[in-house]
Amino acid sequence: MFQCDCCGLCCRNIKGIKLLAPFDDGSGTCVYLDRENNLCTVYGSRPLVCNVDEMYDAFFRDKMTREEFYALNYDACKKLKRQQKN
Ligand code: SF4
Ligand code: SF4
Repeated sequence: MFQCDCCGLCCRNIKGIKLLAPFDDGSGTCVYLDRENNLCTVYGSRPLVCNVDEMYDAFFRDKMTREEFYALNYDACKKLKRQQKN
């Protein structure tokens, strides 16, 4: 299972993600993010692009292992965390 620490950074950096453009509040943060606790308020019905496992099953299972796909996503998380520190 993908390990997310609920930092909320991916949901605060959706600018440039076409599929999430309708959810951008104008500052790059998703309108569905609860800013108090960094949780998704539509978690059970969140878009496919927000669901690592469903994205893997839908588009990547023939291209790489699930662990490799997780690793790519962890790299993206780390990049966001590094950017936030700077
Ligand atoms: S950036 Fe990564 S760790 Fe943070 S909320 Fe998004 S998926 Fe989870
Ligand atoms: S729908 Fe939920 S998981 Fe997807 S970007 Fe918005 S707050 Fe984050």
